[in-house]
Amino acid sequence: MAKNQDLLASVSDTSADSEFFSPIPPGYKKGKNRYCFVLGTVMSGLGKGIFSSCLAKLMQDKGLKVAPIKLEGYLNIDSGTLNPFRHGEVFVLDDGLECDMDLGTYERMLDQDLTRSNFATSGQIFSSILHKERHGDYLGRDVQMIPHVTGEVKLKLRDLATKSNADVVFVEIGGTVGDLENAYFIEAMRELAYEEGPDSCCFMALTYILEPKTLGEQKSKAAQLGIKQLMHLGIQPDIIACRASSPVTEKVRQKISLYSNVPLERVVSLPDSASIYMIPAILRDKGLDFEVARLLKIDDRISLRHERKAWGRWCDFTDKIDAAKKQITIGITGKYTSVRDSYASIINAVEHAGIALGCDAKIKWIETTAVTDANVAERLADVDGIIVPGGFGTRGVKGKIACVKYARKNNLPYLGLCFGFQMAVIELARNVCGLSKSNSTEIDSDCPQPVIDILPEQKKIEGLGGNMRLGGRDIELKKQTLAWKLFGKADSVRMRFRHRYEVDPRYIETLEKAGLVFSGKAPNQPIMQILEMPSHPFFLATQAHPCLTSRPLRPQPMFVGLIAAAMKKHYPDENLPDSVNAAQKLCQSK
Ligand code: GLN
Repeated sequence: MAKNQDLLASVSDTSADSEFFSPIPPGYKKGKNRYCFVLGTVMSGLGKGIFSSCLAKLMQDKGLKVAPIKLEGYLNIDSGTLNPFRHGEVFVLDDGLECDMDLGTYERMLDQDLTRSNFATSGQIFSSILHKERHGDYLGRDVQMIPHVTGEVKLKLRDLATKSNADVVFVEIGGTVGDLENAYFIEAMRELAYEEGPDSCCFMALTYILEPKTLGEQKSKAAQLGIKQLMHLGIQPDIIACRASSPVTEKVRQKISLYSNVPLERVVSLPDSASIYMIPAILRDKGLDFEVARLLKIDDRISLRHERKAWGRWCDFTDKIDAAKKQITIGITGKYTSVRDSYASIINAVEHAGIALGCDAKIKWIETTAVTDANVAERLADVDGIIVPGGFGTRGVKGKIACVKYARKNNLPYLGLCFGFQMAVIELARNVCGLSKSNSTEIDSDCPQPVIDILPEQKKIEGLGGNMRLGGRDIELKKQTLAWKLFGKADSVRMRFRHRYEVDPRYIETLEKAGLVFSGKAPNQPIMQILEMPSHPFFLATQAHPCLTSRPLRPQPMFVGLIAAAMKKHYPDENLPDSVNAAQKLCQSK
């Protein structure tokens, strides 16, 4: 240990005549934090984030502190400018960072709020390096991929370790091992493992076992080559998780074990699972949690008592997944309906609320470009509730407004999220307040009755990156309203935002006269954040994205309210709890 301490001291020498350059953050205690690296081979989309978050959860259950970080190879500074159709939903953290959807998986699995230190892109790394170079921080040296760029990556990881005081930092690299943009991330990991010394790091590779239909048997060659590629980079995996459509045979696992120096018990089969919430149990059954604890020599930090309790709570939740007896259908309208990843958080929030209420809530996707006032009744005939989610631009707007109108007039439970909130305001203004030319200036910049207009703070902003009204904000709740009751009669509630437009305050009074109640608003500002219609069984919308903070064991009250209302609609003869009673029984108050 003493020797390694010296090594860390020498690599952290950033003076001009040293070949080392590994800045160590102040307060870093070598040996305190361990690192688990999760890499993918053969192909992307194997569920590295799911695997990593499930394993992190098992470690957290043991009373250990965990901190995840996702490293993305792309050059964008964050995920805010990425098209969800190509990259999955843009997840927003409480501190306002727009990031990869995997951060949502970590937050849900760990029931832990993350921050911008849990996410890094190549864009951020290079931007920081170029900034330091201009600042003269490299003391006359030529700035190189090794040691400077790798030094910056290691700094980011150690910084997270220090700030979070984590027993285990879970580092997931996006994409696969062969990607050019990942090469320096992987090199940084190799260096970090060397500097931290034996038993400090655990390398986990996910791979894919092919099973061509024409052969009818599993083939391991692509997986073997993928792992070899990792070994060529100087990294010996400790654990290999074999993803496949069906359970991986012993023979295939043996081949991979032999090829990769990984003992057979640490080459595990990980076939597709119906629910990601079942994966922690699968990893636990294979003993991977204790393997990691042994490899990192942290057995002595584990609390079995803590684990028993946490695991019991988790099993109570997973037991309900299959036990769900009732079935309802929720329609979700939207532009990116062909890619489920674009709506990952909403799908999860519906699932959490459904499981909690003992119901299997199926989702029906409704492509709004094809919906009109004439066919909306037929399109929504078989849904028990509807969600109009977030969105940008003009596509499908007419269809969304037709859906809102139909839900309002036919007592169909409605939940509007961000854009869906704005659509509800426009529909009501047009069809109830007689403001027939109402619109959002996002859709029609010259519209004569701009009930939705750009936020004053947004008017001055040019460019598109990271500058919407972003992140967690408190919402003041109006007493005696549905929202107030759903949130356990709290004075205020915190939700996350990502928008540029808002209800133009000049129209608030007119809308309220028509029967709309703004039950949530920004403290000290006339920004409307939640609306509801008391004459309707469940008509609720918010300028926020409540789906981002729904957690498996703490379903989000607005979603619980929607599902409960949809169940009542589907099973009118049964004495089911109404939205408020359901939420009061189940939910988080904040
Ligand atoms: N386009 C709308 C706005 O910017 C809604 C944004 C959203 O749904 N995330 O205000």
